Amino acid sequence: MQYISTRGQEKKVSASEAIVAGLAPDGGLYVPESFPAWSKERIASLQGLTYAEVAAQVLGDYLTDFTPEELSEITEKAYGSNFSDERIAPLHKISNKEHVLELFYGPTLAFKDFALQILPYLMCASMKKTNERKKVLILVATSGDTGKAALEGFKDVEDTAVMVFYPQNGVSQAQQLQMMTQEGKNVYVCGIEGDFDDAQKGVKRIFSDETMQKKIEKAGYRLSSANSINWGRLVPQIAYYFWTYIQLVQKGTLANGEKINVAVPTGNFGNILAAYYAKRMGLPIERLICASNENHVINDFLKTGQYDRNRPLVKTTSPSMDILVSSNLERMLFELADRNGALVYDWMHALAKQGRYGIGQARNERMLSEFVGGWCDDANVEKVIHTLFNKNHYLMDTHTAIAQALCEAYMEKSGDANHCVVVSTANPYKFAGDVLAALQNGKHIEGDAFVQAEALAKLTNTQIPKEISDLSEKPILFTGVCKPNEMEKIVLEQVKRW
Ligand SMILES: *Cc1c(COP(=O)(O)O)cnc(C)c1O
Repeated sequence: MQYISTRGQEKKVSASEAIVAGLAPDGGLYVPESFPAWSKERIASLQGLTYAEVAAQVLGDYLTDFTPEELSEITEKAYGSNFSDERIAPLHKISNKEHVLELFYGPTLAFKDFALQILPYLMCASMKKTNERKKVLILVATSGDTGKAALEGFKDVEDTAVMVFYPQNGVSQAQQLQMMTQEGKNVYVCGIEGDFDDAQKGVKRIFSDETMQKKIEKAGYRLSSANSINWGRLVPQIAYYFWTYIQLVQKGTLANGEKINVAVPTGNFGNILAAYYAKRMGLPIERLICASNENHVINDFLKTGQYDRNRPLVKTTSPSMDILVSSNLERMLFELADRNGALVYDWMHALAKQGRYGIGQARNERMLSEFVGGWCDDANVEKVIHTLFNKNHYLMDTHTAIAQALCEAYMEKSGDANHCVVVSTANPYKFAGDVLAALQNGKHIEGDAFVQAEALAKLTNTQIPKEISDLSEKPILFTGVCKPNEMEKIVLEQVKRW
């Protein structure tokens, strides 16, 4: 399988070249030349396999320059014992037709671990395959969870280094502490006086600046990305949709071939895109419910066919979704443009210049035949968390609650009787303050992340994850903050220091 750029200006590359590069040189994202097609029988044959085995099969169809043995070894390392629940991605049934897919048992308590526990292995193997002699510098812009997951995945991995930029006032306290206390000799963390989009823009600016690239190369590094623009980050996420489907078949909840809907809390459009790719491969998914918070650019795009980022970013209780420019939507646009890269180039150019573009009615309708958009404000998030806890004694985080709200609204309004899988992206203790407030009619209590976590544990009779309580004992190692236009300087200083 070869990879092409969504902007159509580049030659085809292998999977390992796409993974090492991160972004295509023309500024586009790498996408597979075609989608593997899985029959009903092939999907059924996944029954009884472990998570790592399912992932190895999905990866095998995309990363064709890796041998099956390599992929078994890599998936076993990534998913063998690093997750605190042995089912890796368990399903929790909350009503007859609603199932929560819990993707937060990895070391950083968010679904980003599914990709970032495996990406370092894929990256190192790809560097060998492409004869890359320089070290790889992973530059990350994070809305909170990617940063920690990348740091944890790449810490002390040979021939790599990782630098993370996060919005200083745009992440939860637990998220910030997770990053500030990161250990490892090849890591660096810096806050930004700005929001996630500023951080993401800075990273993209560095990627597209040839003088910067040359300076970084002179220091012995080549740039790459651990954001979901990297194919190696996206492809592992396809696997958990197959895994989920098979779990439901094994339990007898579904007949093999029966359709499901999935509801995904969406920010950068990576997770839901993985679900769409699974669907393209033949997984019986009917509707992709794309759930946004108050920064509902994608919801408006689905309604009108116009993407317009010209609006202020709103800070919400779901900070990992506080995003106005969803990078991965570009891969979806490529499909909507019937893989015409020049068209995608024009849209992205308009986005950079005017902050908006339109795809026209026909393409909009095509997207609406598979996707359902919607959004939910903080007050509604509170209500969902509160109601679900009272009714089912099930504790849900602020991001997942948005998907839950939209799943319920969709089922009620449409009368669609398919089972719905709500994708749970984070452990509620990562956002303990807001989850606790939701259970107490909006009342926040005084105190730091640990005080909030303890109060939440007491009120709900649930356990604080060790990954959170351990943070109180770790020394703070990174306190730096910079302006968005200082990122270049910071990067160069740090690569010279290493
Ligand atoms: C990253 C993240 C999201 C958004 O996922 P995308 O793939 O960027 O759409 C949602 N919830 C949580 C908790 C996250 O960390």
